[in-house]
Amino acid sequence: MSRDSRVSKLMSYAGDHRYLTYASLALSGISSALSVVPFYYIWLMLKEVLEIAPDYSQAVNLVHNGWMALGFTVASVLIYIAGLMCSHIAAFRIAKNIRKRTIAHAATLPPGAFDMIGSGKVRRVVQDSAGATETYLAHQMPDMVGSAVLPVAMIVMLFMFDWRLGIASMIPIALAFLAMWTMVGSRVLQEHMEVYQGALGDMNKEAVEYVRGISVVKTFQQTIDSFRNFRASIETYQKFVVKYTVWCRSRMVFFVIASDLAFATLILFALWIQGGLVWTDEFLLDFMFYVIFTPLVSVLLMRILMASNEGYIVDDALSRIDGILSMEPLSEPSEPMEPADMTVRFDDVTFTYPETDRPAVDGVSFEMRPGTVTALVGPSGSGKSTVANLACRFWDPQSGRVEVGGVDLREVGTRRLGQLTSSVFQVSNLFKDTLANNVRLGKPDATEDEIMEALRRAQCDDIVAKLSAGLDTMMGPEGMYLSGGETQRIAIARAMLKDSPIVILDEATAFADPENEYLVQKAFESLAENRTVLMIAHRLTTVRNADNICVMDDGRIVESGTHDELIARGGMYARMWDDYQRSLSWKVSGVS
Ligand code: ADP
Repeated sequence: MSRDSRVSKLMSYAGDHRYLTYASLALSGISSALSVVPFYYIWLMLKEVLEIAPDYSQAVNLVHNGWMALGFTVASVLIYIAGLMCSHIAAFRIAKNIRKRTIAHAATLPPGAFDMIGSGKVRRVVQDSAGATETYLAHQMPDMVGSAVLPVAMIVMLFMFDWRLGIASMIPIALAFLAMWTMVGSRVLQEHMEVYQGALGDMNKEAVEYVRGISVVKTFQQTIDSFRNFRASIETYQKFVVKYTVWCRSRMVFFVIASDLAFATLILFALWIQGGLVWTDEFLLDFMFYVIFTPLVSVLLMRILMASNEGYIVDDALSRIDGILSMEPLSEPSEPMEPADMTVRFDDVTFTYPETDRPAVDGVSFEMRPGTVTALVGPSGSGKSTVANLACRFWDPQSGRVEVGGVDLREVGTRRLGQLTSSVFQVSNLFKDTLANNVRLGKPDATEDEIMEALRRAQCDDIVAKLSAGLDTMMGPEGMYLSGGETQRIAIARAMLKDSPIVILDEATAFADPENEYLVQKAFESLAENRTVLMIAHRLTTVRNADNICVMDDGRIVESGTHDELIARGGMYARMWDDYQRSLSWKVSGVS
């Protein structure tokens, strides 16, 4: 990204605060220009001293000029600080606007897309990427303007008094900077930085992989060497850093010698220009000025060169932010329509996940009527979860329609759809809150009695009984530990309390014990009463009583019907059932 487009992009988040940014740039430039003015007063002071020597009591302007030199130095610093204040206010506001806009946009995305980006990534964009723009706007941009003005002001100073001495002091400085440029010149540095960041990134990634795998390595008694990639990434990094350092060495030596030699060059030139050691006062004055000023030029220019211009970090941050902002939000109907009943219908629905080329659901049509349970079965990866996600409008299909009561889900409106559907997924999220509040999510104004009733109907009595603080026990990652089945029963209680007419269930695959499995099953049955239910079934026993079983394979529904119909048909379901029966007897004989 060019600097201009980067800045205009940043300014698009600035609103009226853009003027503060512009002011900060102007102030930084003025501060730079003023920073060389004190040297003019020093020159005046030297002049006076030489003129009146040795009777220094005749000095009239010496003190005034001294104060002026100090005054301009202080003014330059104060203006710089004022500039930084402006730039910081603007930078914080811009970062805040980026954060607000990204969070607001993320909230409008289809829930499926949000899950796919991952909440961790959204957090990183909101926190880190927005933060990266802050440093750039608050420090680097004003410093860049200052760095552009300073050399000009310095060159003016160098040629103002004696152009010949100006040239003499420019030669070694120019040579020194040529050496420096080959080291950190924008293109060279960028190439090196890319390799460097790449090597650093690889090393970090491999380090994470290494830490994650430590337990496996220990269990299998492997040595560190088994982490070849980690080791290789460290070696690549080390090789690069050493090579780069050695490459810089000769240039750095040349730079130091050339900039320190500025002094000597100046003396040689002065002797040559004057043809000996007999100098006029005027020349001596200029010479002294250059002796003071020249070493400062190289120090200041060095600082400019070293001033980080980490535009590429901001580009990376902006493209991550854009990555989220450019995602299509979930459309909202201008006039929401009310479904006639709670029949859910898939009509030739095809859906392909972003950045994949095969549809996960391919031309699927079926109907779920109120008061019935429709079960989805099929091998893993056949598209069952995707169908469930489409039924909750976690995604919109690319073609075909998902309808409730004859109305396309896109026309129902997110709010209303949220009231109509409940989902209980395998990974049922419990929030870091009390048990009561976790259940209450289903109905914010629920009384304690209603919560207890929902928990009872979801077969959670045993869970409540064993919790020390009952309904007030903290749940979530740092709270009470509950097994998968127990967590799912609480999620069922939540759905029970919400009492929505459409329910989507993803049966948990792993149960700690048969008791849990039985209770979850009972809770499911109780929740399913009189609703439109879609259930992803992982065990065939649980689907036997379903009103309709859709067998999925490779994104399509290959057969559907009741258990008995499908068995009679002798197709895929019958084979699955056979295998299932055999696995049961195998287990039993295995135990005995
Ligand atoms: P099931 O629930 O039957 O195991 P899924 O609906 O999860 O099947 O997956 C159907 C297909 O879609 C699989 O090929 C899977 O790899 C793919 N898939 C699922 N989720 C995503 C995703 N977020 N991004 C890309 N592909 C996905």
